[in-house]
Amino acid sequence: MFGKAFQRRYALTDQGVKNTKRGACWTVIVNLVVMGGMGILYLMMARYMDTLTQGAPLPHAWIYILLVLAFVVLSLATHIQQYKSTYGLVYGEVKATRLSLAERLRKLPLGYFGKRDLADLTETIMGDVNRLEHVWSHCLGYLYGSCVSTALIAIALFCYDWRLAIAVLWGVPVAFALLFGSRRLSRRNSERLKQDSLQVSDGIQETLENIREIRATNQEERFLQALNDKIDQHEKTNIHGELVTGLFVNGASVIMRLGVATTILTGTGLILSGQIDFMLLFMFLLVITRVYAPFDQALALIAEMFMSQVSANRLNEIYDTPTAEGAERFAPKGHDIEFRNVWFSYDEKQVLKGVSFTAKEGEVTALVGPSGGGKSTCARLAARLWDIDQGQITVGGVDIATVDPEILLTDYSMVFQDVVLFDDTVMENIRLGRHGATDEEVRAAARAANCDEFVEKLPKGYQTPIGENGAKLSGGERQRISIARALLKNAPIVLLDEATASLDVENETRVQGALSRLLQGKTVLVIAHRMRTVEAADRIVVLVDGKVAEKGSPAELMAKDRSIFRRMTQLQADSAGWSI
Ligand code: ADP
Repeated sequence: MFGKAFQRRYALTDQGVKNTKRGACWTVIVNLVVMGGMGILYLMMARYMDTLTQGAPLPHAWIYILLVLAFVVLSLATHIQQYKSTYGLVYGEVKATRLSLAERLRKLPLGYFGKRDLADLTETIMGDVNRLEHVWSHCLGYLYGSCVSTALIAIALFCYDWRLAIAVLWGVPVAFALLFGSRRLSRRNSERLKQDSLQVSDGIQETLENIREIRATNQEERFLQALNDKIDQHEKTNIHGELVTGLFVNGASVIMRLGVATTILTGTGLILSGQIDFMLLFMFLLVITRVYAPFDQALALIAEMFMSQVSANRLNEIYDTPTAEGAERFAPKGHDIEFRNVWFSYDEKQVLKGVSFTAKEGEVTALVGPSGGGKSTCARLAARLWDIDQGQITVGGVDIATVDPEILLTDYSMVFQDVVLFDDTVMENIRLGRHGATDEEVRAAARAANCDEFVEKLPKGYQTPIGENGAKLSGGERQRISIARALLKNAPIVLLDEATASLDVENETRVQGALSRLLQGKTVLVIAHRMRTVEAADRIVVLVDGKVAEKGSPAELMAKDRSIFRRMTQLQADSAGWSI
Protein backbone atom coordinates (compact mmCIF):
# COMPACT_ATOMS: atom_id res chain seq x y z
CA MET A 1 0.00 0.00 0.00
CA PHE A 2 2.82 2.44 0.84
CA GLY A 3 5.31 1.28 -1.78
CA LYS A 4 7.30 3.16 -4.43
CA ALA A 5 4.23 3.82 -6.60
CA PHE A 6 2.48 5.44 -3.64
CA GLN A 7 5.54 7.54 -2.86
CA ARG A 8 5.72 8.72 -6.45
CA ARG A 9 2.02 9.36 -6.81
CA TYR A 10 2.09 11.82 -3.94
CA ALA A 11 5.69 12.99 -4.51
CA LEU A 12 6.64 12.10 -0.94
CA THR A 13 10.13 11.87 0.49
CA ASP A 14 11.15 8.63 2.26
CA GLN A 15 10.46 10.32 5.56
CA GLY A 16 7.10 11.48 4.19
CA VAL A 17 6.06 7.88 3.51
CA LYS A 18 7.03 6.92 7.07
CA ASN A 19 5.03 9.88 8.43
CA THR A 20 2.00 8.94 6.36
CA LYS A 21 2.18 5.38 7.71
CA ARG A 22 2.31 6.78 11.19
CA GLY A 23 -0.59 9.11 10.51
CA ALA A 24 -2.62 6.21 9.12
CA CYS A 25 -1.84 4.04 12.17
CA TRP A 26 -2.94 6.77 14.57
CA THR A 27 -6.10 7.32 12.54
CA VAL A 28 -6.92 3.61 12.88
CA ILE A 29 -6.35 3.82 16.64
CA VAL A 30 -8.44 7.01 16.99
CA ASN A 31 -11.30 5.51 15.00
CA LEU A 32 -11.24 2.33 17.10
CA VAL A 33 -11.09 4.31 20.35
CA VAL A 34 -14.11 6.37 19.29
CA MET A 35 -15.86 3.16 18.38
CA GLY A 36 -15.01 2.00 21.91
CA GLY A 37 -16.93 5.07 23.15
CA MET A 38 -19.93 3.80 21.25
CA GLY A 39 -19.40 0.45 22.99
CA ILE A 40 -19.66 2.16 26.41
CA LEU A 41 -22.87 3.86 25.31
CA TYR A 42 -24.20 0.50 24.13
CA LEU A 43 -23.32 -1.17 27.47
CA MET A 44 -25.04 1.58 29.42
CA MET A 45 -28.11 1.33 27.26
CA ALA A 46 -28.17 -2.48 27.48
CA ARG A 47 -28.00 -2.42 31.31
CA TYR A 48 -30.68 0.21 31.43
CA MET A 49 -32.92 -1.86 29.16
CA ASP A 50 -32.33 -4.89 31.44
CA THR A 51 -33.43 -2.79 34.39
CA LEU A 52 -36.51 -1.63 32.55
CA THR A 53 -37.57 -4.99 31.17
CA GLN A 54 -36.37 -7.47 33.79
CA GLY A 55 -36.14 -5.25 36.85
CA ALA A 56 -32.41 -5.96 37.26
CA PRO A 57 -30.78 -3.56 39.75
CA LEU A 58 -28.96 -0.57 38.22
CA PRO A 59 -25.18 -0.93 38.56
CA HIS A 60 -23.20 1.68 40.45
CA ALA A 61 -22.94 4.91 38.49
CA TRP A 62 -19.22 5.30 39.31
CA ILE A 63 -18.34 2.35 37.06
CA TYR A 64 -19.73 4.26 34.10
CA ILE A 65 -18.22 7.54 35.21
CA LEU A 66 -14.83 5.83 35.34
CA LEU A 67 -15.37 4.24 31.93
CA VAL A 68 -16.38 7.56 30.38
CA LEU A 69 -13.41 9.33 32.01
CA ALA A 70 -11.03 6.67 30.70
CA PHE A 71 -12.57 7.08 27.27
CA VAL A 72 -12.16 10.87 27.33
CA VAL A 73 -8.50 10.63 28.38
CA LEU A 74 -7.70 7.94 25.82
CA SER A 75 -9.55 9.77 23.08
CA LEU A 76 -7.74 13.01 23.83
CA ALA A 77 -4.33 11.34 23.94
CA THR A 78 -4.84 9.48 20.67
CA HIS A 79 -6.25 12.54 18.91
CA ILE A 80 -3.19 14.53 19.93
CA GLN A 81 -0.94 11.83 18.52
CA GLN A 82 -2.97 11.71 15.33
CA TYR A 83 -2.74 15.48 14.97
CA LYS A 84 1.00 15.43 15.48
CA SER A 85 1.57 12.64 13.00
CA THR A 86 -0.65 14.09 10.27
CA TYR A 87 -0.51 17.90 10.49
CA GLY A 88 2.55 18.33 12.65
CA LEU A 89 5.01 16.22 10.70
CA VAL A 90 3.85 17.55 7.36
CA TYR A 91 5.47 20.91 7.95
CA GLY A 92 8.80 19.13 8.11
CA GLU A 93 7.88 17.32 4.92
CA VAL A 94 7.11 20.58 3.12
CA LYS A 95 10.48 21.95 4.13
CA ALA A 96 12.27 18.75 3.12
CA THR A 97 10.51 18.71 -0.25
CA ARG A 98 11.33 22.33 -1.04
CA LEU A 99 14.94 21.76 -0.02
CA SER A 100 15.26 18.62 -2.08
CA LEU A 101 13.72 20.40 -5.08
CA ALA A 102 16.15 23.29 -4.65
CA GLU A 103 19.05 20.86 -4.33
CA ARG A 104 17.88 19.06 -7.45
CA LEU A 105 17.54 22.32 -9.37
CA ARG A 106 21.03 23.27 -8.31
CA LYS A 107 22.37 20.14 -9.97
CA LEU A 108 20.34 20.35 -13.17
CA PRO A 109 22.14 21.43 -16.32
CA LEU A 110 21.90 25.22 -16.50
CA GLY A 111 20.29 24.94 -19.90
CA TYR A 112 17.23 23.45 -18.20
CA PHE A 113 16.34 26.89 -16.90
CA GLY A 114 16.11 28.19 -20.43
CA LYS A 115 13.61 25.48 -21.24
CA ARG A 116 11.21 25.94 -18.34
CA ASP A 117 10.20 29.46 -17.66
CA LEU A 118 10.82 30.85 -14.22
CA ALA A 119 7.17 31.57 -13.38
CA ASP A 120 6.55 27.88 -13.97
CA LEU A 121 9.40 26.74 -11.70
CA THR A 122 8.40 29.12 -8.92
CA GLU A 123 4.85 27.87 -9.19
CA THR A 124 6.10 24.30 -8.72
CA ILE A 125 8.23 25.06 -5.68
CA MET A 126 5.63 27.24 -4.00
CA GLY A 127 2.17 26.44 -5.39
CA ASP A 128 2.46 22.74 -6.17
CA VAL A 129 4.14 21.94 -2.87
CA ASN A 130 1.42 23.92 -1.06
CA ARG A 131 -1.30 21.95 -2.79
CA LEU A 132 0.44 18.69 -1.98
CA GLU A 133 0.93 19.78 1.61
CA HIS A 134 -2.81 20.03 2.02
CA VAL A 135 -3.24 16.53 0.67
CA TRP A 136 -0.42 15.13 2.80
CA SER A 137 -1.75 16.68 6.00
CA HIS A 138 -5.52 16.54 5.58
CA CYS A 139 -6.04 13.56 3.40
CA LEU A 140 -3.57 10.74 3.06
CA GLY A 141 -3.29 9.50 6.65
CA TYR A 142 -7.02 10.00 7.30
CA LEU A 143 -8.12 8.23 4.17
CA TYR A 144 -5.83 5.23 4.40
CA GLY A 145 -6.32 4.91 8.17
CA SER A 146 -10.10 5.17 7.84
CA CYS A 147 -10.13 2.46 5.17
CA VAL A 148 -8.30 0.10 7.55
CA SER A 149 -10.45 0.91 10.59
CA THR A 150 -13.64 0.62 8.56
CA ALA A 151 -12.48 -2.76 7.25
CA LEU A 152 -11.89 -3.94 10.85
CA ILE A 153 -15.28 -2.64 11.97
CA ALA A 154 -16.92 -4.21 8.92
CA ILE A 155 -15.51 -7.63 9.90
CA ALA A 156 -16.96 -7.20 13.40
CA LEU A 157 -20.33 -6.13 11.99
CA PHE A 158 -20.44 -9.13 9.66
CA CYS A 159 -19.78 -11.38 12.68
CA TYR A 160 -22.87 -9.97 14.41
CA ASP A 161 -25.27 -9.95 11.49
CA TRP A 162 -24.30 -10.05 7.83
CA ARG A 163 -27.64 -8.66 6.61
CA LEU A 164 -27.43 -5.53 8.73
CA ALA A 165 -23.71 -5.22 7.94
CA ILE A 166 -24.49 -5.05 4.23
CA ALA A 167 -27.26 -2.51 4.90
CA VAL A 168 -24.76 -0.31 6.76
CA LEU A 169 -21.79 -0.64 4.44
CA TRP A 170 -23.03 -0.91 0.86
CA GLY A 171 -22.80 2.85 0.40
CA VAL A 172 -19.08 3.03 1.09
CA PRO A 173 -17.81 1.14 -1.98
CA VAL A 174 -20.46 2.73 -4.19
CA ALA A 175 -19.48 6.23 -3.06
CA PHE A 176 -15.80 5.51 -3.69
CA ALA A 177 -16.54 3.96 -7.07
CA LEU A 178 -18.36 7.15 -8.03
CA LEU A 179 -15.45 9.30 -6.91
CA PHE A 180 -12.82 7.21 -8.62
CA GLY A 181 -14.96 7.27 -11.74
CA SER A 182 -14.83 11.06 -11.67
CA ARG A 183 -11.07 11.04 -11.27
CA ARG A 184 -10.24 11.54 -14.91
CA LEU A 185 -12.64 14.46 -15.10
CA SER A 186 -11.07 16.24 -12.15
CA ARG A 187 -7.58 15.61 -13.45
CA ARG A 188 -8.46 17.13 -16.79
CA ASN A 189 -9.94 20.11 -14.98
CA SER A 190 -6.88 20.46 -12.87
CA GLU A 191 -4.59 20.43 -15.90
CA ARG A 192 -6.70 23.08 -17.57
CA LEU A 193 -6.67 25.16 -14.41
CA LYS A 194 -2.90 24.90 -14.17
CA GLN A 195 -2.54 26.03 -17.79
CA ASP A 196 -4.88 28.95 -17.23
CA SER A 197 -3.14 30.04 -14.07
CA LEU A 198 0.24 29.92 -15.82
CA GLN A 199 -1.22 32.00 -18.63
CA VAL A 200 -2.30 34.59 -16.07
CA SER A 201 1.07 34.76 -14.32
CA ASP A 202 2.92 34.82 -17.65
CA GLY A 203 0.60 37.59 -18.82
CA ILE A 204 1.26 39.66 -15.71
CA GLN A 205 5.00 39.10 -15.97
CA GLU A 206 5.03 39.98 -19.65
CA THR A 207 3.04 43.17 -19.08
CA LEU A 208 5.31 44.28 -16.26
CA GLU A 209 8.48 43.50 -18.18
CA ASN A 210 7.34 45.39 -21.24
CA ILE A 211 5.60 48.23 -19.50
CA ARG A 212 7.81 50.85 -21.12
CA GLU A 213 7.26 49.61 -24.65
CA ILE A 214 3.55 49.20 -23.98
CA ARG A 215 3.25 52.78 -22.81
CA ALA A 216 5.45 54.09 -25.57
CA THR A 217 3.35 52.41 -28.23
CA ASN A 218 0.01 53.25 -26.60
CA GLN A 219 -0.98 49.63 -26.25
CA GLU A 220 -2.12 49.67 -22.63
CA GLU A 221 -5.72 48.96 -23.51
CA ARG A 222 -4.90 46.02 -25.72
CA PHE A 223 -2.56 44.43 -23.16
CA LEU A 224 -4.97 44.96 -20.27
CA GLN A 225 -7.82 43.48 -22.30
CA ALA A 226 -5.72 40.42 -23.11
CA LEU A 227 -4.83 40.05 -19.42
CA ASN A 228 -8.47 40.48 -18.45
CA ASP A 229 -9.51 37.72 -20.83
CA LYS A 230 -6.91 35.40 -19.32
CA ILE A 231 -8.12 36.12 -15.79
CA ASP A 232 -11.76 35.59 -16.84
CA GLN A 233 -10.87 32.28 -18.43
CA HIS A 234 -9.06 31.21 -15.26
CA GLU A 235 -12.07 32.11 -13.16
CA LYS A 236 -14.43 30.22 -15.47
CA THR A 237 -12.31 27.08 -15.38
CA ASN A 238 -12.04 27.36 -11.61
CA ILE A 239 -15.80 27.65 -11.08
CA HIS A 240 -16.49 24.83 -13.51
CA GLY A 241 -13.97 22.63 -11.72
CA GLU A 242 -15.41 23.39 -8.29
CA LEU A 243 -18.93 22.70 -9.53
CA VAL A 244 -18.10 19.32 -11.00
CA THR A 245 -16.09 18.33 -7.95
CA GLY A 246 -18.78 19.50 -5.55
CA LEU A 247 -21.37 17.51 -7.43
CA PHE A 248 -19.45 14.26 -7.22
CA VAL A 249 -18.24 14.69 -3.64
CA ASN A 250 -21.68 15.60 -2.30
CA GLY A 251 -23.27 12.87 -4.38
CA ALA A 252 -20.86 10.34 -2.85
CA SER A 253 -21.55 11.63 0.65
CA VAL A 254 -25.32 11.34 0.17
CA ILE A 255 -25.03 7.83 -1.22
CA MET A 256 -22.94 6.77 1.77
CA ARG A 257 -25.52 8.18 4.14
CA LEU A 258 -28.33 6.32 2.42
CA GLY A 259 -26.90 3.45 4.48
CA VAL A 260 -28.73 4.88 7.52
CA ALA A 261 -32.08 4.47 5.79
CA THR A 262 -31.36 0.97 4.54
CA THR A 263 -30.16 -0.07 8.00
CA ILE A 264 -33.35 1.19 9.66
CA LEU A 265 -35.52 -0.48 7.04
CA THR A 266 -33.67 -3.80 7.14
CA GLY A 267 -33.41 -3.70 10.94
CA THR A 268 -37.12 -2.99 11.42
CA GLY A 269 -37.97 -5.81 9.02
CA LEU A 270 -35.72 -8.23 10.88
CA ILE A 271 -37.11 -7.19 14.29
CA LEU A 272 -40.69 -7.55 13.07
CA SER A 273 -39.94 -11.04 11.77
CA GLY A 274 -38.36 -11.82 15.12
CA GLN A 275 -34.91 -12.56 13.74
CA ILE A 276 -33.04 -9.95 15.78
CA ASP A 277 -33.77 -7.97 18.90
CA PHE A 278 -33.94 -4.20 19.20
CA MET A 279 -30.61 -3.91 20.98
CA LEU A 280 -28.74 -5.29 17.98
CA LEU A 281 -30.34 -2.71 15.70
CA PHE A 282 -29.51 -0.08 18.30
CA MET A 283 -25.87 -1.16 18.23
CA PHE A 284 -25.75 -0.96 14.42
CA LEU A 285 -27.32 2.49 14.51
CA LEU A 286 -24.67 3.61 16.99
CA VAL A 287 -21.91 2.19 14.84
CA ILE A 288 -23.28 3.73 11.69
CA THR A 289 -22.75 7.26 12.92
CA ARG A 290 -19.05 6.46 13.30
CA VAL A 291 -18.54 4.44 10.14
CA TYR A 292 -19.12 7.38 7.82
CA ALA A 293 -17.64 10.15 9.93
CA PRO A 294 -13.93 9.33 9.40
CA PHE A 295 -14.43 9.50 5.67
CA ASP A 296 -16.01 12.93 5.79
CA GLN A 297 -12.80 14.91 5.93
CA ALA A 298 -11.06 12.67 3.45
CA LEU A 299 -14.03 12.81 1.06
CA ALA A 300 -14.18 16.57 1.11
CA LEU A 301 -10.57 16.58 0.01
CA ILE A 302 -10.53 13.58 -2.25
CA ALA A 303 -11.02 15.76 -5.31
CA GLU A 304 -8.00 17.72 -4.19
CA MET A 305 -6.17 14.44 -3.86
CA PHE A 306 -6.95 13.51 -7.45
CA MET A 307 -6.01 16.98 -8.63
CA SER A 308 -2.78 16.84 -6.68
CA GLN A 309 -1.67 14.28 -9.24
CA VAL A 310 -0.89 17.11 -11.64
CA SER A 311 1.23 18.84 -8.99
CA ALA A 312 2.97 15.58 -8.11
CA ASN A 313 3.72 14.98 -11.80
CA ARG A 314 5.32 18.39 -12.05
CA LEU A 315 7.51 17.66 -9.05
CA ASN A 316 8.41 14.26 -10.43
CA GLU A 317 9.34 15.84 -13.73
CA ILE A 318 12.03 17.84 -11.89
CA TYR A 319 13.16 14.77 -9.94
CA ASP A 320 13.35 12.76 -13.18
CA THR A 321 15.43 15.23 -15.20
CA PRO A 322 18.97 13.88 -15.29
CA THR A 323 21.33 16.03 -13.25
CA ALA A 324 24.70 17.13 -14.51
CA GLU A 325 27.19 15.51 -12.16
CA GLY A 326 30.90 14.91 -12.31
CA ALA A 327 34.21 14.83 -10.52
CA GLU A 328 35.06 17.57 -8.04
CA ARG A 329 38.58 17.70 -9.39
CA PHE A 330 39.42 19.46 -12.64
CA ALA A 331 43.08 19.56 -13.56
CA PRO A 332 43.36 20.05 -17.32
CA LYS A 333 46.66 20.28 -19.19
CA GLY A 334 46.28 23.77 -20.63
CA HIS A 335 42.96 25.17 -21.74
CA ASP A 336 42.52 24.25 -25.38
CA ILE A 337 38.84 23.57 -26.04
CA GLU A 338 38.25 20.77 -28.49
CA PHE A 339 34.93 19.79 -30.05
CA ARG A 340 35.11 16.26 -31.47
CA ASN A 341 32.22 15.24 -33.69
CA VAL A 342 29.64 16.87 -31.41
CA TRP A 343 25.96 16.14 -31.98
CA PHE A 344 23.32 17.97 -30.02
CA SER A 345 19.58 18.59 -30.03
CA TYR A 346 17.51 20.70 -27.62
CA ASP A 347 14.38 18.63 -27.87
CA GLU A 348 13.65 16.88 -31.11
CA LYS A 349 15.42 19.31 -33.38
CA GLN A 350 18.99 18.38 -34.30
CA VAL A 351 20.98 21.59 -33.83
CA LEU A 352 24.61 20.47 -34.09
CA LYS A 353 25.50 17.73 -36.54
CA GLY A 354 29.02 16.48 -36.03
CA VAL A 355 30.84 19.69 -35.15
CA SER A 356 34.63 19.45 -34.74
CA PHE A 357 37.05 22.31 -34.12
CA THR A 358 39.70 23.41 -31.65
CA ALA A 359 39.91 26.74 -29.84
CA LYS A 360 43.54 27.11 -28.73
CA GLU A 361 44.77 28.69 -25.55
CA GLY A 362 46.08 32.22 -26.15
CA GLU A 363 44.04 32.54 -29.34
CA VAL A 364 40.74 34.12 -30.26
CA THR A 365 38.47 31.70 -32.08
CA ALA A 366 35.54 33.40 -33.77
CA LEU A 367 32.32 31.56 -34.51
CA VAL A 368 30.58 33.07 -37.50
CA GLY A 369 27.71 32.10 -39.77
CA PRO A 370 24.06 32.72 -40.46
CA SER A 371 21.76 33.13 -37.50
CA GLY A 372 20.39 29.81 -36.28
CA GLY A 373 23.58 28.06 -37.44
CA GLY A 374 24.45 26.96 -33.89
CA LYS A 375 27.01 29.52 -32.69
CA SER A 376 25.39 30.28 -29.34
CA THR A 377 24.70 26.60 -28.86
CA CYS A 378 28.42 25.81 -29.30
CA ALA A 379 29.33 28.46 -26.73
CA ARG A 380 26.80 27.06 -24.23
CA LEU A 381 27.99 23.50 -24.77
CA ALA A 382 31.62 24.53 -24.27
CA ALA A 383 30.69 25.47 -20.69
CA ARG A 384 28.52 22.37 -20.19
CA LEU A 385 25.33 24.36 -19.79
CA TRP A 386 23.82 21.40 -21.61
CA ASP A 387 25.12 17.89 -22.03
CA ILE A 388 25.79 16.75 -25.60
CA ASP A 389 24.17 13.74 -27.27
CA GLN A 390 27.20 12.33 -29.04
CA GLY A 391 30.89 13.09 -29.44
CA GLN A 392 33.15 14.77 -26.94
CA ILE A 393 34.13 18.23 -25.76
CA THR A 394 37.46 18.44 -23.98
CA VAL A 395 39.27 21.21 -22.15
CA GLY A 396 43.01 20.60 -21.87
CA GLY A 397 42.34 16.94 -22.73
CA VAL A 398 39.71 16.42 -20.00
CA ASP A 399 36.20 15.46 -21.13
CA ILE A 400 34.01 18.16 -19.62
CA ALA A 401 31.12 15.70 -19.25
CA THR A 402 33.12 14.10 -16.43
CA VAL A 403 33.52 17.31 -14.44
CA ASP A 404 31.05 18.76 -11.95
CA PRO A 405 29.59 21.82 -13.74
CA GLU A 406 30.09 24.06 -10.72
CA ILE A 407 33.80 23.19 -10.59
CA LEU A 408 34.14 23.46 -14.35
CA LEU A 409 32.62 26.95 -14.44
CA THR A 410 35.28 28.32 -12.12
CA ASP A 411 37.56 28.21 -15.19
CA TYR A 412 35.13 30.16 -17.39
CA SER A 413 34.16 33.77 -17.76
CA MET A 414 31.07 34.40 -19.78
CA VAL A 415 30.36 37.77 -21.27
CA PHE A 416 27.04 37.27 -22.95
CA GLN A 417 24.64 39.79 -24.41
CA ASP A 418 22.01 39.32 -21.75
CA VAL A 419 24.17 40.51 -18.86
CA VAL A 420 22.43 39.76 -15.59
CA LEU A 421 22.81 42.60 -13.13
CA PHE A 422 21.37 42.62 -9.64
CA ASP A 423 19.59 45.40 -7.84
CA ASP A 424 22.66 46.22 -5.81
CA THR A 425 25.56 48.64 -5.93
CA VAL A 426 28.05 48.79 -8.80
CA MET A 427 30.71 47.51 -6.41
CA GLU A 428 28.75 44.39 -5.47
CA ASN A 429 27.73 43.72 -9.06
CA ILE A 430 31.36 43.62 -10.15
CA ARG A 431 32.41 41.66 -7.06
CA LEU A 432 30.19 38.82 -8.24
CA GLY A 433 33.11 37.92 -10.52
CA ARG A 434 35.16 36.76 -7.56
CA HIS A 435 33.64 36.27 -4.17
CA GLY A 436 35.82 37.84 -1.51
CA ALA A 437 37.70 40.25 -3.80
CA THR A 438 38.76 43.41 -1.97
CA ASP A 439 37.32 46.83 -2.87
CA GLU A 440 40.69 47.76 -4.34
CA GLU A 441 40.71 44.68 -6.61
CA VAL A 442 37.16 45.50 -7.74
CA ARG A 443 38.23 49.07 -8.55
CA ALA A 444 41.27 47.85 -10.48
CA ALA A 445 39.09 45.51 -12.58
CA ALA A 446 36.60 48.33 -13.15
CA ARG A 447 39.42 50.64 -14.30
CA ALA A 448 40.74 48.00 -16.69
CA ALA A 449 37.22 47.55 -18.08
CA ASN A 450 36.85 51.30 -18.64
CA CYS A 451 34.04 51.50 -16.09
CA ASP A 452 35.85 54.10 -14.08
CA GLU A 453 34.77 57.22 -15.94
CA PHE A 454 31.07 56.48 -15.91
CA VAL A 455 31.06 55.18 -12.34
CA GLU A 456 32.71 58.39 -11.14
CA LYS A 457 29.79 60.32 -12.57
CA LEU A 458 27.20 58.30 -10.67
CA PRO A 459 25.85 60.05 -7.55
CA LYS A 460 27.50 57.70 -5.05
CA GLY A 461 30.23 56.32 -7.26
CA TYR A 462 30.78 52.61 -6.70
CA GLN A 463 28.15 52.57 -3.96
CA THR A 464 25.35 53.64 -6.33
CA PRO A 465 22.53 51.12 -6.62
CA ILE A 466 21.98 50.35 -10.29
CA GLY A 467 18.28 49.42 -10.22
CA GLU A 468 16.71 46.13 -11.17
CA ASN A 469 18.82 44.46 -13.83
CA GLY A 470 20.87 47.61 -14.23
CA ALA A 471 17.93 49.67 -15.45
CA LYS A 472 19.83 52.88 -14.77
CA LEU A 473 22.75 52.01 -17.05
CA SER A 474 23.23 52.17 -20.81
CA GLY A 475 23.91 49.08 -22.91
CA GLY A 476 27.62 49.84 -23.22
CA GLU A 477 27.92 50.48 -19.48
CA ARG A 478 26.21 47.25 -18.60
CA GLN A 479 28.53 45.38 -20.89
CA ARG A 480 31.58 47.00 -19.36
CA ILE A 481 30.39 45.95 -15.91
CA SER A 482 30.16 42.39 -17.10
CA ILE A 483 33.65 42.66 -18.58
CA ALA A 484 34.93 44.03 -15.26
CA ARG A 485 33.38 41.01 -13.55
CA ALA A 486 35.17 38.70 -15.97
CA LEU A 487 38.46 40.57 -15.49
CA LEU A 488 38.13 40.17 -11.75
CA LYS A 489 37.46 36.48 -12.11
CA ASN A 490 40.41 36.15 -14.47
CA ALA A 491 39.36 32.68 -15.63
CA PRO A 492 41.51 31.05 -18.33
CA ILE A 493 38.58 30.57 -20.71
CA VAL A 494 36.41 33.40 -21.97
CA LEU A 495 33.17 32.86 -23.83
CA LEU A 496 32.05 36.05 -25.44
CA ASP A 497 28.91 36.98 -27.26
CA GLU A 498 29.45 40.36 -28.82
CA ALA A 499 26.59 42.79 -28.53
CA THR A 500 24.54 43.08 -31.67
CA ALA A 501 22.92 46.24 -30.43
CA SER A 502 24.85 49.09 -31.96
CA LEU A 503 26.86 51.06 -29.46
CA ASP A 504 27.91 54.60 -30.21
CA VAL A 505 31.48 54.97 -31.43
CA GLU A 506 32.87 56.19 -28.12
CA ASN A 507 31.21 53.42 -26.17
CA GLU A 508 32.30 50.81 -28.67
CA THR A 509 35.92 51.91 -28.52
CA ARG A 510 35.84 51.71 -24.73
CA VAL A 511 34.23 48.27 -24.77
CA GLN A 512 36.82 47.08 -27.30
CA GLY A 513 39.63 48.43 -25.16
CA ALA A 514 38.25 46.65 -22.11
CA LEU A 515 37.84 43.44 -24.06
CA SER A 516 41.35 43.39 -25.44
CA ARG A 517 42.65 43.50 -21.86
CA LEU A 518 40.30 40.70 -20.81
CA LEU A 519 41.15 38.40 -23.69
CA GLN A 520 44.92 38.49 -23.43
CA GLY A 521 46.45 35.02 -23.10
CA LYS A 522 43.08 33.30 -22.65
CA THR A 523 41.26 30.67 -24.64
CA VAL A 524 38.63 32.83 -26.26
CA LEU A 525 35.53 31.63 -28.04
CA VAL A 526 33.65 34.55 -29.47
CA ILE A 527 30.34 34.72 -31.26
CA ALA A 528 31.41 37.44 -33.57
CA HIS A 529 29.15 40.11 -34.94
CA ARG A 530 31.70 42.75 -35.89
CA MET A 531 34.13 42.80 -38.75
CA ARG A 532 36.85 44.11 -36.49
CA THR A 533 36.68 41.07 -34.22
CA VAL A 534 36.62 38.66 -37.10
CA GLU A 535 39.67 40.20 -38.74
CA ALA A 536 41.56 40.21 -35.47
CA ALA A 537 40.65 36.59 -34.66
CA ASP A 538 43.30 33.89 -34.92
CA ARG A 539 40.88 31.26 -36.12
CA ILE A 540 37.51 31.34 -37.76
CA VAL A 541 34.92 28.59 -37.57
CA VAL A 542 32.03 29.06 -40.01
CA LEU A 543 28.92 27.29 -38.77
CA VAL A 544 26.11 26.72 -41.22
CA ASP A 545 23.06 24.68 -40.31
CA GLY A 546 24.76 22.93 -37.40
CA LYS A 547 27.85 21.90 -39.37
CA VAL A 548 31.33 23.36 -39.69
CA ALA A 549 31.36 24.71 -43.23
CA GLU A 550 34.88 26.16 -43.09
CA LYS A 551 37.64 26.73 -40.60
CA GLY A 552 41.07 28.34 -40.63
CA SER A 553 42.76 31.67 -40.10
CA PRO A 554 41.04 34.73 -41.64
CA ALA A 555 43.85 35.01 -44.19
CA GLU A 556 43.57 31.36 -45.21
CA LEU A 557 39.84 31.59 -45.63
CA MET A 558 40.08 34.81 -47.60
CA ALA A 559 42.63 33.25 -49.92
CA LYS A 560 40.40 30.29 -50.72
CA ASP A 561 38.38 30.31 -53.89
CA ARG A 562 34.64 30.20 -53.38
CA SER A 563 35.00 30.52 -49.64
CA ILE A 564 31.82 31.20 -47.71
CA PHE A 565 33.79 33.40 -45.39
CA ARG A 566 35.02 35.55 -48.22
CA ARG A 567 31.57 35.90 -49.67
CA MET A 568 30.24 36.75 -46.20
CA THR A 569 32.75 39.49 -45.61
CA GLN A 570 32.08 40.92 -49.05
CA LEU A 571 28.34 40.78 -48.57
CA GLN A 572 28.32 41.92 -45.00
CA ALA A 573 27.15 45.41 -45.76
CA ASP A 574 23.77 44.23 -47.01
CA SER A 575 23.47 40.84 -45.33
CA ALA A 576 21.39 41.49 -42.27
CA GLY A 577 20.89 37.79 -41.60
CA TRP A 578 24.58 37.05 -41.33
CA SER A 579 26.26 37.63 -38.06
CA ILE A 580 29.51 39.37 -38.64
P1 ADP B 1 23.06 31.10 -33.63
O1 ADP B 1 23.74 31.47 -32.37
O2 ADP B 1 24.00 30.68 -34.70
O3 ADP B 1 22.08 32.12 -34.11
P2 ADP B 1 21.73 29.17 -32.00
O4 ADP B 1 22.77 28.27 -31.46
O5 ADP B 1 21.19 30.23 -31.13
O6 ADP B 1 22.22 29.77 -33.37
O7 ADP B 1 20.47 28.29 -32.46
C1 ADP B 1 20.59 27.13 -33.26
C2 ADP B 1 19.20 26.50 -33.37
O8 ADP B 1 18.81 26.01 -32.10
C3 ADP B 1 18.13 27.46 -33.81
O9 ADP B 1 17.32 26.80 -34.75
C4 ADP B 1 17.35 27.76 -32.57
O10 ADP B 1 15.99 27.91 -32.88
C5 ADP B 1 17.56 26.52 -31.74
N1 ADP B 1 17.60 26.85 -30.30
C6 ADP B 1 18.45 27.71 -29.69
N2 ADP B 1 18.25 27.74 -28.35
C7 ADP B 1 17.25 26.86 -28.10
C8 ADP B 1 16.59 26.41 -26.91
N3 ADP B 1 16.91 26.87 -25.70
N4 ADP B 1 15.61 25.50 -27.04
C9 ADP B 1 15.27 25.01 -28.25
N5 ADP B 1 15.86 25.37 -29.40
C10 ADP B 1 16.84 26.29 -29.35
